[in-house]
Amino acid sequence: METILVLAHTEADGSLAKSALETLGAAKTLGGTLVVGLIGETVQAAANQIAGCGAAKFLAVAGADYAQARYGTDAAAAEAICKASGATIVIAPATSRMNRVLPGVAHRLGGRADTHVTGLTANSITRWYYRQRMEAVIERTQRPWVIALESGCAPAWTGTAGTATVENVSVTLADAAKRTTVTGVKAPAADQQTIHPDAKLLFVAGAGWTKKQADGQPHVPEAAELIMGFLKASQASLGSSKSLVDLSGEGQAVLPFMSHLNQIGQTGSTPRHPKGLATCCHGEEPHTVGWRFVNDRRAINLDANCGWARGKADVLYVADAFAVMRKLNELLAAK
Ligand SMILES: Cc1cc2nc3c(=O)[nH]c(=O)nc-3n(C[C@H](O)[C@H](O)[C@H](O)COP(=O)(O)OP(=O)(O)OC[C@H]3O[C@@H](n4cnc5c(N)ncnc54)[C@H](O)[C@@H]3O)c2cc1C
Repeated sequence: METILVLAHTEADGSLAKSALETLGAAKTLGGTLVVGLIGETVQAAANQIAGCGAAKFLAVAGADYAQARYGTDAAAAEAICKASGATIVIAPATSRMNRVLPGVAHRLGGRADTHVTGLTANSITRWYYRQRMEAVIERTQRPWVIALESGCAPAWTGTAGTATVENVSVTLADAAKRTTVTGVKAPAADQQTIHPDAKLLFVAGAGWTKKQADGQPHVPEAAELIMGFLKASQASLGSSKSLVDLSGEGQAVLPFMSHLNQIGQTGSTPRHPKGLATCCHGEEPHTVGWRFVNDRRAINLDANCGWARGKADVLYVADAFAVMRKLNELLAAK
């Protein structure tokens, strides 16, 4: 029988993020003996949050040295917890903090690591290759098997909180492990943050928003107002076609809040959302590859022959996106 370790780090407020709860939810479906391992400045609140998950043990490496992401300290902590747990399978959320250390930890343990995992069974994992075009099912005999599970692939664990007994695992940190210091975080202000992985809706804007419209003129400021108005009212996450984000590099009139981070598709990201609405973008194949994990796909395009009409969208509105979004914003404001 496998011993399954769910390895996670706590957030700045001491809690567990949704992706950690999803990892726990996925691990619970596998059977075997469950052990939880936590890394962070403080871990008791997080352990209490999942006290009812049925883990045989809660192991932790905690303290100021583990407050922020740093390879040296995170890898040492993860290695110590893995060893103390005797785990044959280690599952962690694929956060940037975990992704950075897991392959190194697997190497130290003489195990193997698989990253970008999207599904788990008791003896196999699934992941996508070639920009989400091919799905592979992988089995391994090597243990420990270290698995980084992508967010949005499993239902988050829900259950009763309580008081968990946490066993501290001791780690001797060499000074070299603490060489890197995080001096600050640069991030957009909360109201300028347009990417929300947990949003129910992905709203995608294409280059059409910046093109000449029926009156022979582009209407970029109005496009920006309509898009931002919709994002505020709907809390949707903002995606973009490659053409639109590339315009800024070519010195053309652009939407000020759009960056390459918003780009979805073959050379962009493949976000997971229950619903998607594409506006003023054509629905090209490399672009629609980014929609693989969007369940309900809708698009608005003036062109009844656009890519979306060729089976890429569940619903295509052949309409002027300026008019549709203006009306939609009015309806949302009236709500
Ligand atoms: C190797 C490779 C990788 C690529 N990777 C990506 C990628 O990762 N992501 C990506 O997005 N693209 C990618 N592309 C580019 C992709 O093929 C397309 O060129 C791009 O997605 C087109 O962007 P667009 O639809 O915004 O613009 P356009 O093709 O210019 O389409 C604009 C659309 O807006 C519509 N429109 C204009 N005005 C209105 C209006 N008022 N109302 C409604 N509709 C309107 C037009 O009818 C038109 O269909 C890649 C290409 C290659 C070759």
